[in-house]
Amino acid sequence: MNDTSIARHRAHADFSTSGGDIAIEAIDLVKDYGEGDTVVHALRGVNVRFARGRFTAIMGPSGSGKSTLMHTLAGLDAVTGGHILFGGRDLTDMNDNELTMLRRHRIGFIFQSFNLLPMFTAEQNILMPLTLAGAKADREWFDTLVATLGLGRRLKHRPNELSGGQQQRVAIARALVTKPDLVFADEPTGNLDSVSSAEVLGFLKRSVHDLGQTIIMVTHDAVAASYADRAIVFADGRIVADEPNLGADRMNELLMSERERAARLFDRPAMRDAAAR
Ligand code: ADP
Repeated sequence: MNDTSIARHRAHADFSTSGGDIAIEAIDLVKDYGEGDTVVHALRGVNVRFARGRFTAIMGPSGSGKSTLMHTLAGLDAVTGGHILFGGRDLTDMNDNELTMLRRHRIGFIFQSFNLLPMFTAEQNILMPLTLAGAKADREWFDTLVATLGLGRRLKHRPNELSGGQQQRVAIARALVTKPDLVFADEPTGNLDSVSSAEVLGFLKRSVHDLGQTIIMVTHDAVAASYADRAIVFADGRIVADEPNLGADRMNELLMSERERAARLFDRPAMRDAAAR
């Protein structure tokens, strides 16, 4: 048994004994798009565990596999190989109906473009996942979210009466209202100015530290990632760095060095092939 397989074996032993601390885990995750000469290896055997109640940023250059990881973990995209353990189940064994139920009840999504329904008020938008599921709101939780997100005086407004930052705060409340086990945020500050970004990131951080949420955020913004407890850097379908709690400067350095490494590999096809093996 080599070091890697020992580490993996140990990781699995931990999962079975203290699985409650792990929100989701990917094991040897492989995702290819296409086949033959045109195959793209978007994920090349990714092993990663996300602890409950933590805020993780996934970073990396465009095309490095960040969205593919998020989509496969959320059960939106089928995998080519490997396993995804979530709540004691392997997502890769679930049928479409089970995956739909899982996404509806246990996973929250926050998008770059907010995706609010324009004809409904902020309150109706926040409650929409429960309305669609025919479920009753937990009023206390709703009030906690509204207070945490500073939306108390905006509940009767429609999206076009709200600033970008306020709209994203409504979208965050909507993602959290079902008390999901896991929240995925896809470039949540991509459409916001720097002040609104800071505000939204601050709220995401509070929802993790004060309300116990688990958030996995894809971003290519080092400042955004610096709000997270952990940063995972992707390059070419692999995790190339996994660091706790970095400041924005250190995060930028990490990204720069990965970009330089990628550029060097790109210039030298033989090295690129070797790295791919
Ligand atoms: P990122 O989110 O880091 O920008 P992606 O996960 O979107 O990267 O993409 C990883 C690789 O997979 C890229 O080479 C991309 O072109 C490819 N890819 C992503 N989605 C598809 C798809 N639907 N069909 C074919 N190739 C895809």
